[in-house]
Amino acid sequence: MPPYFTAFSAFFRPFSKAFRRPWHPLGLLLVLALWLTTLGNVPLWRSFWALTDSHGLRTGLGLLAMGVIVFAATTVLLSLLVWPRWRKPVGVVLLMVAAANSYFMTAYGVVIDPTMMANTVQTDVREVRDLLSGSMLMVLLLGVVLPGVWWWRQPVQQWPAMRLLGRQLGLALLALVLMMVVIWASFQDLASTMRNHKSLRYMVNPFNTVYASGRLLVGQTTQARMSLQPIGEDAAMVSSGAAGAPPLIVLVVGETVRAANFGLAGYARDTTPELRQLQTSGELTYFSNVRSCGTNTQVSVPCMFSHLGREAQAKNDIPYENLLDVLQRAGMQVLWLDNQSGCKGVCDRLPNFGNVASTLNLKDPTLCPDGECFDEIMLRVLPERLTELEKSRPAGKAPVGTVVVLHQMGNHGPAYYKRTPADMKQYLPECRTNVLQDCPAQDIVNAYDNAVRYTDHFLGQTVRWLKTQKRPTAMLYVSDHGESLGEKGLYLHGMPYMMAPQEQTHVPMALWLSKSLKMQSGWEANCWQKQATDALTHDHYFHSVLSLAQVKTRWQQPELDMFSACKAKPALRG
Ligand SMILES: [Zn+2]
Repeated sequence: MPPYFTAFSAFFRPFSKAFRRPWHPLGLLLVLALWLTTLGNVPLWRSFWALTDSHGLRTGLGLLAMGVIVFAATTVLLSLLVWPRWRKPVGVVLLMVAAANSYFMTAYGVVIDPTMMANTVQTDVREVRDLLSGSMLMVLLLGVVLPGVWWWRQPVQQWPAMRLLGRQLGLALLALVLMMVVIWASFQDLASTMRNHKSLRYMVNPFNTVYASGRLLVGQTTQARMSLQPIGEDAAMVSSGAAGAPPLIVLVVGETVRAANFGLAGYARDTTPELRQLQTSGELTYFSNVRSCGTNTQVSVPCMFSHLGREAQAKNDIPYENLLDVLQRAGMQVLWLDNQSGCKGVCDRLPNFGNVASTLNLKDPTLCPDGECFDEIMLRVLPERLTELEKSRPAGKAPVGTVVVLHQMGNHGPAYYKRTPADMKQYLPECRTNVLQDCPAQDIVNAYDNAVRYTDHFLGQTVRWLKTQKRPTAMLYVSDHGESLGEKGLYLHGMPYMMAPQEQTHVPMALWLSKSLKMQSGWEANCWQKQATDALTHDHYFHSVLSLAQVKTRWQQPELDMFSACKAKPALRG
């Protein structure tokens, strides 16, 4: 051992000896509570501080009161949660929760609520890889590895179980009383702050995660206990009297495209040249005033296909069938092609797994470089999958029509630059990192707009392909939710709906119908046109797609059907 090292360790020996004395169990618990309250909640304190410009005594006292409340609440939680047998792992898990939450809250301005939690649980490798970055690893090192190693190595006094139980419950009670007193003393100010800034309540680590996981678990157990409720048992095809081949309807479920950056919505950049051409020739209708059901895929996609609508869906714990079940019940064949993280339960009852084709395992050198596919891959595999599907129809059953859902990767962030093939990048330079706030605002917008333009191209290709089909065809496109690109300091999406900015909820929707489908439906020309500027939401999706697919059921609500003004011409009625 080199001499300087001996001197070094000799110098520190008295200290290290003092620190090697086994901890009083409650003392160690309080250290963890203090860490979680302060360093584990940096984003909360920063937001709290930024609420006002006048940082006088009142702000200071408010911050102090809030600090004591969070510390006391954390102490209560730890006293109930941390017992000798799993003391160390629980501590490390809490450190991880606090560090990961803090990182995402700071980096993207998101908060941790039940739907964000559901998103996290259902994420896949591709999405995680998109989020990894150097600064994230740094946060994990400083917030998890270093304190975690320290925590793991601390010796703790061994106490008889009953004594420890008594002391820990006593500590919990004491902390609870302290919390109540401070809440009581500062109630006026705190209550109004929490009311006016609802997002703060989803920022308190680790309670946001505990609450969200609890809610998620309760919801899932209730759902699991109940059997699936059928809907649309009476579904049948409308017989318009007009003959013709069975129709093919393509539903494109978009991803993270906001209306604000959509050319057809009046955006300064022409991000949708191909759709504009179709609109100019009178083939396509753009719906300019559509709101999403949720602010993330996990909420929006099931909600679109549900008959319930946003408000009922948010409170609903009953597992219902969805639009695709109703279409199948009417005799239609349904195919779901996925270029994203799955169908969120919507496609669960499509007849076989061959129908629920994911592009995850495709290895196409041009369309799937680096293990991720551009959305056009779905069009490449579609003809073959469609043939397979239609061949699988039971013998003797007449074909009545097919519905194909294309679930896009679209503008999935934060790595927007990955969504566009290199030769299709129109706006440069692009932000080429997933740490968005490290990029100039314009570069983020450039990367985002390139992805919107690619969606435009994808939709254009879809229509071109549909035109080659010798049967009545249609395409309905709508994005699942929008996106924040730095407005009000927010990035990405997933804000709780009640406080979500309009960038996250105003989505583009476009409809294209072939001439033969217009003929077959017997609708008067462009009878849906006057809805194009009306206030519509994802609530209209279920009911409108039924009309588009010419399926009738008593579950369809005419007031939510954007084709309700479309009456078949009398001559064509059956
Ligand atoms: Zn989404």
